[in-house]
Amino acid sequence: MVQQPLKIKCPTGKLHTIEEARLCPSCAELFPGPIIQALLADRARVSRPKEKPAFGIGNLVSNCLRQSFYKLTEEQILDLDKLWIFSRGHAIHQFITHTLTDEEKEIFVKKEFPNFDIIGFVDAIHDNVIYEFKTTANIPDEPQTSHLLQAQAYFSMLPKEKQNLITSIKVIYLSLQKVKPYEIPKRDITAYLESRAMQLFLGLKKTLPPEKEVSWLCKYCDFYSKCFDKKVDFID
Ligand code: SF4
Repeated sequence: MVQQPLKIKCPTGKLHTIEEARLCPSCAELFPGPIIQALLADRARVSRPKEKPAFGIGNLVSNCLRQSFYKLTEEQILDLDKLWIFSRGHAIHQFITHTLTDEEKEIFVKKEFPNFDIIGFVDAIHDNVIYEFKTTANIPDEPQTSHLLQAQAYFSMLPKEKQNLITSIKVIYLSLQKVKPYEIPKRDITAYLESRAMQLFLGLKKTLPPEKEVSWLCKYCDFYSKCFDKKVDFID
């Protein structure tokens, strides 16, 4: 499984490679000089084929496995506005973790299974608390299910001796105005992750997208027209 290279959607609607976007006057008009350079830096990574697939936790705990399937098989197209939002979130992540040691942040976790591996990066573990940071425009009244599962997935992926040391798991929402922490129950969801990964693995093997998991989030899904094989106007 080789992930498709990222394409950038220019304000003119054209699709660019990273190199083309760097030289495009229309892209530079929207995000001048150093901003476009910063946005595009390190975006041209190419994934190499592996012996068996390695599924990121984000793809397994997402609201819809079919969407994860499309993310892995379809051309990735990102418009510059979205790239700005991602990069701003990344900058906030870096700020709030910059006083932590390398061992306390971006901790790589991996669990191996016969047909695939599951991998991820824990945002931070500090004083035996797992932290998952989410930047958002609007802080939700309760943690979103996929965020809760993501934080529990990181707990599940830790070696047993480290799991035993964890005292709590927190999902922290960060908006430009405030910070809101939520405590998440400690739960080992390895079986759930394995079952989701197996569905994704079989879908990829047969080139058959998993079942739709329809929700209000379909409205924001980049693959809506592909998934439903048509274009529908949503009513707000
Ligand atoms: S449109 Fe809905 S059901 Fe289809 S892939 Fe996207 S999130 Fe899943």
